[in-house]
Amino acid sequence: MISDFRIGTGFDSHRLEEGRRLTIGGIDVPFAKGCVAHSDGDVLIHAIIDALLGSLALKDIGTHFPDHDPQYKNADSKQLLALVVKLIIEKNWTVHQIDTTIILEQPKLSPYIEQMTGLLSDILKVPSERVSIKVKTNEKMGAIGRGEGVAAMATIVIIKS
Ligand code: MG
Repeated sequence: MISDFRIGTGFDSHRLEEGRRLTIGGIDVPFAKGCVAHSDGDVLIHAIIDALLGSLALKDIGTHFPDHDPQYKNADSKQLLALVVKLIIEKNWTVHQIDTTIILEQPKLSPYIEQMTGLLSDILKVPSERVSIKVKTNEKMGAIGRGEGVAAMATIVIIKS
């Protein structure tokens, strides 16, 4: 029985521009456009980091990894996530479950979801059957619908170790 738990939510979005690398969920996805960002612009991992930090009211990703700090230029978001997971574990919490949604018009991410799930399961130290990654378009509405950007949302449950 779970006696003590916390819930966190996270959201992130990035502009897409031609000629940049598109990294989502730790995977490099071949596409003509990629995210404009100080780090590698991994919108899914950034939403997950904010959900994790939010679960323990530890402020947000920008507080922990400022985007004006040169050490985070082109940072690998997988490594930033691993640092946050370490912080959560040090405080005697364990990730129990994560549910996420990526919203973008193109490209189709379905071929990469299994790989993303395995990768996130490893970093979060949670079985892959409790890692959910959903993808949807914005039905051609607004900036995301025009392919100008990508967004992601994450909800996370952590339990006391
Ligand atoms: Mg971001």
